[in-house]
Amino acid sequence: MISEHDNFVDKHRMSVFLLKRVFVLLIITRSVTNCFIQYGESVMNWLDFFTATILSYEKLIFLCTIGLAIEYFWPNEKNQPSKTILFNFIWVLNFLLVGNILMIFVGRSVGPIIAALGGPWFDLNLPDTWWAWLVHFGIFIALYDFGYYWMHRAQHSWRWFWCHHKLHHNDEHVNATTSFRHHWMENVYRVPFIVIPMSMLVEIDSSMPVILFDVMLVWAVFTHLNVRLDLGPFTRVIAGPQYHRIHHSNLPVHQDKNLTAYFPIWDVLFGTAYIPEKDEYPTCGTVDGETVWSVWEANVGVFKGWWGLLHPAPGPAQGDPALESPEGSTPRD
Ligand SMILES: [Zn+2]
Ligand SMILES: [Zn+2]
Repeated sequence: MISEHDNFVDKHRMSVFLLKRVFVLLIITRSVTNCFIQYGESVMNWLDFFTATILSYEKLIFLCTIGLAIEYFWPNEKNQPSKTILFNFIWVLNFLLVGNILMIFVGRSVGPIIAALGGPWFDLNLPDTWWAWLVHFGIFIALYDFGYYWMHRAQHSWRWFWCHHKLHHNDEHVNATTSFRHHWMENVYRVPFIVIPMSMLVEIDSSMPVILFDVMLVWAVFTHLNVRLDLGPFTRVIAGPQYHRIHHSNLPVHQDKNLTAYFPIWDVLFGTAYIPEKDEYPTCGTVDGETVWSVWEANVGVFKGWWGLLHPAPGPAQGDPALESPEGSTPRD
């Protein structure tokens, strides 16, 4: 005899499956974090590093779980395969560990480079009030988005950069967990494209990077939500789930559009904006349909791509089509 409980489990099989795994991941990360907090301080500095990394992981999983819960009630694409979500959860830990190790070394170069170039060049001279802080933060986030826009544009137009960025795009079932499916190399590129130019222009209040980091995390999950939500007249003002879904579309007409992270004004100004119709929610992935299911491949794919660019196959085929940028036809370097 089939019980009500069995019926429920059967009906919500994927959700139960996911929730169980999220729960286990949270327990594991919390236990490891507690161990590090308890014993790490007096042992070695590297324990602080792992503690910080695992705390970040816990935060990302938490945000993704909230996103998945929203998607559960208001899904755009129904019954997304759970393996894509699990893969993204595993990848995020890999991304954080390798990315943070790299940033220990890369981050040290920022201060000396800014000092050598004589930055920051402009002093905003804002008064010490809450509204001045908000203005400062507005300038800060707009500058960040401007730098991100050009980095992202380079990732889509230059094959050498596309080799790492395609990992973010070959998720065919975009959802909250896609937010952090980036190659760790992307963090390194943020330094010359965003961090150094911003720091050269204006002095940054030390409290802002921390706040911006949290805003970025929440906004990243929001824009990748698998929900049917168009922002109406605000579509041109703030990037939302529909606006960013166009960016992940596998349709040729949407390629290289909507590159901004927060403010579509940059897309509008530089000719890459695509304002979707009310019911326009395209399928996602790359034009060639290539995807990745192996953590190893996700890590080393960029190097294979570079090798392919250095040693293109002879003949009319001109190399591996998997290395092509989203449009898949135009030479991009
Ligand atoms: Zn992109
Ligand atoms: Zn995205």
